[in-house]
Amino acid sequence: MRFGTTLIPTLKENPGEARVESHRLMLRAGLIRQLGAGIYTWLPLGLKVLRKVEAIVREEMDAAGAQEILMPSVQPAELWEESGRWQMYGPELLRFQDRGGRNFCYGPTHEEVVTDLARRELRSYRDLPANFYQIQTKFRDEVRPRFGIMRGREFLMKDAYSFDLDEASLENSYRIMVDAYNRIFGRCGLKYRAVEADTGSIGGAFSHEFHVLAESGEDVIASCDGCGYAANLEKAESLMPSETEETCAHVGPMRTVATPGMKTMEEVATFLGCPVSAMVKSLVVEGDGRAFQLLLRGDHELNLVKAAHALGVGTVVLAEPERVTALTGVAVGSLGPVGGRLPLWADRSLAGLTCFIAGANRDGNHVLDGVWGRDCPTPRWVDIRNVVAGDPCPRCRVSPLRLDRGIEVGHVFKLGDKYTRAMKVTVQDADGKERTPIMGCYGIGVSRIVAAAIEQNHDEQGIIWPLALAPFAVELMLVNPREEDSMKVAEALEKELRQGGIDVLMDDRDERLGVKFKDADLLGLPFRAIVGGRSLKEGTVEIQRRGQPEKERIAIAEVAGVLRARIQDEAARGRS
Ligand code: ATP
Ligand code: MG
Repeated sequence: MRFGTTLIPTLKENPGEARVESHRLMLRAGLIRQLGAGIYTWLPLGLKVLRKVEAIVREEMDAAGAQEILMPSVQPAELWEESGRWQMYGPELLRFQDRGGRNFCYGPTHEEVVTDLARRELRSYRDLPANFYQIQTKFRDEVRPRFGIMRGREFLMKDAYSFDLDEASLENSYRIMVDAYNRIFGRCGLKYRAVEADTGSIGGAFSHEFHVLAESGEDVIASCDGCGYAANLEKAESLMPSETEETCAHVGPMRTVATPGMKTMEEVATFLGCPVSAMVKSLVVEGDGRAFQLLLRGDHELNLVKAAHALGVGTVVLAEPERVTALTGVAVGSLGPVGGRLPLWADRSLAGLTCFIAGANRDGNHVLDGVWGRDCPTPRWVDIRNVVAGDPCPRCRVSPLRLDRGIEVGHVFKLGDKYTRAMKVTVQDADGKERTPIMGCYGIGVSRIVAAAIEQNHDEQGIIWPLALAPFAVELMLVNPREEDSMKVAEALEKELRQGGIDVLMDDRDERLGVKFKDADLLGLPFRAIVGGRSLKEGTVEIQRRGQPEKERIAIAEVAGVLRARIQDEAARGRS
């Protein structure tokens, strides 16, 4: 491909709207352009990268025995009514009608469609196990589309769905997918981690997310360097403290102190001269039509997913301040465990306090030296907070947990019979009995991988593509395209490389050399060969690896061979 005749609209300036490096660089390098909120056009170079990701995903899915199909984006509402999700899914589902007034949605995912296919086409246990996948455009009307294609509304996903007769067989299908995912993310050159995840409302006992580690990640993942445990915040467990902390020298009777006008815990803590961690904060949540008072250490954060599990309700929401007052009779800032109206559920960490400081359930007052079971009912101890760095690992109980930020690029989980039962899929088993198969589903954010790869691989000047995803392996830069000799050498080199199966972008623009170098750094193609100038007069071409400062002069006749060898070498290392 030639730079001069390809749409590669690079930008000198940082676009104002971009918050993260990958978004900035994808716009600056001319990979994508925005059409509307969360909706993007992929330009030639961006599309080449997307296709490389797709190819890796496709190869590994095929090798894992999954069968590629392509399902429609537009899905009839009836299927979603059968599964119960037409009501459940909420505003992320883009709904519309055809000319006959029939309801449809643009698929955010394809469980219903693939399950409908299964009930029509799978007849017998001999048809199982089966795994169908597609690489296809999804639409989700995200509340906060952001970071470019990282969280788009329209995006490209690989979604796969397995059907098995029993749990052992599903376990095997699941393992095969986990292995394929490890190969896919490895081959993409990503530093990633597989973590245990919450299964949420979809149910099923098992789920893993694959996260690319990056500072800009929206998710936090907890892991243990000691035993290898890794989980997302909804799943990572915090343990019951083993010893009570000495929070007071000696426990006296409970006292009440006036804390007039103090709104935040920090204000109260400063006034009382105690750390925020010695204080108990109260939050009111509601779920399944009931209200609960949750207690947490002042410096800890509530996790709503863990809270819903602990309380045994579907989902919980935090009550607004007015609602809290209506339910408890006091303002939020003075709420506490002593003498309240609501049932108390406390985070396990609070069991470690010999005595506590908390709101007094009287506006503008706090209590000191409160003791569980003496001054208030002993709460139910539950795990409802986000783990923090340094918490003991819940698995090995020895090493401390660490927290890292991650970008979720893949998600695998066991669905069980949720869809097959609701949509009445059955197959005959070996004894001729009708059985309901169980499912697994396996997603990969194909377009998100492109952004995640850039988050992990860039410098001040631009992108540094992992070889496997680079739109071209080599940029051939012409110092002066009007010089006939250089053009001849460049064209011969381009031909030779292409014949060796290497993608080449030739920068044949009649631009200042400085501009071409800047663009080359921005585009971040792994290898660069500079044809012209003094080195050409000496019969050499200068080559350079993006991200490394060294330049080497190689005799013209050997350039293609040297580049091919380096590329093969790097590719082999990437696969191992
Ligand atoms: P998230 O928590 O990031 O919203 P999700 O749990 O909704 O993800 P899944 O339904 O499991 O995602 O979808 C499978 C994969 O699709 C995700 O792992 C992610 O890589 C990708 N993905 C999901 N939503 C988006 C989006 N809005 N833009 C780009 N990729 C997405
Ligand atoms: Mg989502």
